[in-house]
Amino acid sequence: MQSHCRRRAFLLALAFVVLYGGVQAQEASQSDNAGRSRASASAAAVAETRSSTAAVGDLASIKPVEHNVLHRPIELSDGLTHWVDRSYPYGSTQQGARPVHLGVEFVNPRGTPVYAAKSGVVVFAGADDEILVGPQLDYYGQVVIVAHPIESLAGRQLFTVYGHLDETSVAVGQAVEDLTLLGHIGSSGVALGPHLHFETRVDDPYDFRMTRNPELWLQHYIDNGMIIGRIRDEEGAPVLGKRVSVRSNDFNRDVYSYEGRVVNSDPVWDEDFTVGDLPAGDYQVVVLDEVGKIAFAREVAVEPYRTTFVDIVLANALAAATPQR
Ligand SMILES: [Zn+2]
Repeated sequence: MQSHCRRRAFLLALAFVVLYGGVQAQEASQSDNAGRSRASASAAAVAETRSSTAAVGDLASIKPVEHNVLHRPIELSDGLTHWVDRSYPYGSTQQGARPVHLGVEFVNPRGTPVYAAKSGVVVFAGADDEILVGPQLDYYGQVVIVAHPIESLAGRQLFTVYGHLDETSVAVGQAVEDLTLLGHIGSSGVALGPHLHFETRVDDPYDFRMTRNPELWLQHYIDNGMIIGRIRDEEGAPVLGKRVSVRSNDFNRDVYSYEGRVVNSDPVWDEDFTVGDLPAGDYQVVVLDEVGKIAFAREVAVEPYRTTFVDIVLANALAAATPQR
């Protein structure tokens, strides 16, 4: 019965995508509902186009690669946290303390409303205690999964996942608009406290191994951009869990490259780390060696609504000095 429902929900989602996909692709630049709009949806910034000749599955042909089209699922209000929690970003284990993070957190009090990041159709709503949508049953607790007709992935399907809710406000098969209320923040499933766990998945809404980094999909704040990059050794192998510092005159943020292989790089960016929500300006990207000496440093500019990519190659000795998880 459950698998029958699941199949039906999935078919509904596909039908929705076929019907509305073309319409939604034109809509990427529309403004937010109800003044909830400090994040910009500038058409120029969103750059949500792809080559008209792109064949389904032909990922290399998608240009340009920026696809920051999702609203933040938390209201852009001063009293709420609508930015990604930096202590446990996508791909992080908090240096070995926690499981590899398959999404990002928006830490807010229980009962905070959670909104659809984009229009679509609900493919799952309720407890995950009988259907596996995470690494184990009852992992996300009360969870909503929405399928989106977004054409950034050469015909592949994007899903957003909203976990640990207190309760859900939508039903399977329901069409939702941008910022439709989906439920409220709770701590159901495996959660240390009330927060929203937010994921983006590709192709299969039930497969936790299909996540991508949600930061690459979220709209920028006004006049903000982001730095992302790749850290590889001399043979081109990813260096896991390496600390990267992003600095400016009045700013310093440390991030770690993805610490495990259960998370995925964006098919076009092929990134190992992201640093979102950076005010436009000049930054220095730095990697230190084991004794605190600069092993890599580059000056980069962040432009409003754009992504700056930094390609870091480390000597094998330094790359190997990083604990591999
Ligand atoms: Zn989480």
